[in-house]
Amino acid sequence: MSMPLEKSPTRAPVGRIAELADQCVQCGLCLPVCPTYALDRNEAESPRGRIAIAAALARGQVDPTAGLREHLDHCLGCLNCEKACPANVQYGELLIETRALLGPGPQSPRQLLNLIKRPVLMRALHHIGGWMALPRWKGWLARRLPADSPWRAALLVIPIEAPAARARASDKNHGQPCVALFPGCVASIDDAEAQQAAITLLQVAGFQISLLPAFCCGAMDLHGGATESAERAAQHVRRAWAECGATQLVSVTPGCLGTLRRALPGVSVVDPVELLATHADALVFRPLAQRITLHLPCTQINVARSDHALLQLLRRVPDLDVLPLPRPPYCCGAAGSHLLEFPERAAQLRDATLRQVATLDPQQLLSSNIGCRLHLAAGIDAQGLHWPTRHPLTLLAQQLIHAH
Ligand code: SF4
Ligand code: SF4
Repeated sequence: MSMPLEKSPTRAPVGRIAELADQCVQCGLCLPVCPTYALDRNEAESPRGRIAIAAALARGQVDPTAGLREHLDHCLGCLNCEKACPANVQYGELLIETRALLGPGPQSPRQLLNLIKRPVLMRALHHIGGWMALPRWKGWLARRLPADSPWRAALLVIPIEAPAARARASDKNHGQPCVALFPGCVASIDDAEAQQAAITLLQVAGFQISLLPAFCCGAMDLHGGATESAERAAQHVRRAWAECGATQLVSVTPGCLGTLRRALPGVSVVDPVELLATHADALVFRPLAQRITLHLPCTQINVARSDHALLQLLRRVPDLDVLPLPRPPYCCGAAGSHLLEFPERAAQLRDATLRQVATLDPQQLLSSNIGCRLHLAAGIDAQGLHWPTRHPLTLLAQQLIHAH
């Protein structure tokens, strides 16, 4: 089936897509690290195949049939291919431009995403869910929906229970470097504990914190081809940044960092673990005799590039046995809204990830991305397993003793 392009292929992005695609020398070195190629063993589900499809679509050599665009829609945006590429192909940029050209896919659950992106509404829903004891029967409700329903996936993954208190920063201590913390949308509710932990650790490390209001950075829109709402979110980011008076911006959610950097060119936007690792001598931790598995989200490795800093920090906790999760699989399948759009594919990748976790037999599973963590926790629950899941910063703040 041929589908209309949302934007004319004669517009400027077409030249940009072709230019980015022409950087690919088709060596295939990216294929072994591509999670969708591992799932399907199909060239069209590989980075090289997608680059060829994008170039052909942009040049008008093929029609955007449902089948062709599905190969592009299946892409997780994990950027494992970009990191592995010897020709420095900017695959992430090419994907964003191509999805902008095509517009949101037919499977995109727009109403659900519009709800999830609104923290005020979602916080109210969490409270209502808590009062109604929804966590007890939402699984029953979800299983009455079709296996490929985004609403079923949302019910299984999102806690919808009375949320933790919002993160708060104490009064500013003038004279210390000021860092702004971006709470985001889902993370402002479901990762408030990790945000509070980041604030505690950063303050002990010598920073003062400016907490931005909770709103969506626009990542799901940007990666889903909804360019106008992505631009509105970017403007919101720029306004909040202009008013905060900080010199650096941090987010405990690595999945937000790429979009924040795009909205704020020239601004230092980093994972807080980078700042903490450079001030680690100010942090003293009490021992914890536990074996933990560390899941490193794709965005932490490929965008934030803060995986080494995180490992360095966790290894400062005496007696803690930190076991990074072996790869492959190269993605847990959460990938922003992918877990809602393609829940069955997302579950396949998640189950492969959980099989790797089982080989390490941990007492806890740590992961920095709220989407990955909720997705993994839903799989753990579905399989009757018992690994608690936490943000690494929550564990670090719990073990913190004092400042030097
Ligand atoms: S590694 Fe880079 S150059 Fe080689 S096929 Fe993949 S994208 Fe193209
Ligand atoms: S971004 Fe990830 S899923 Fe998409 S082509 Fe690259 S490696 Fe494969």
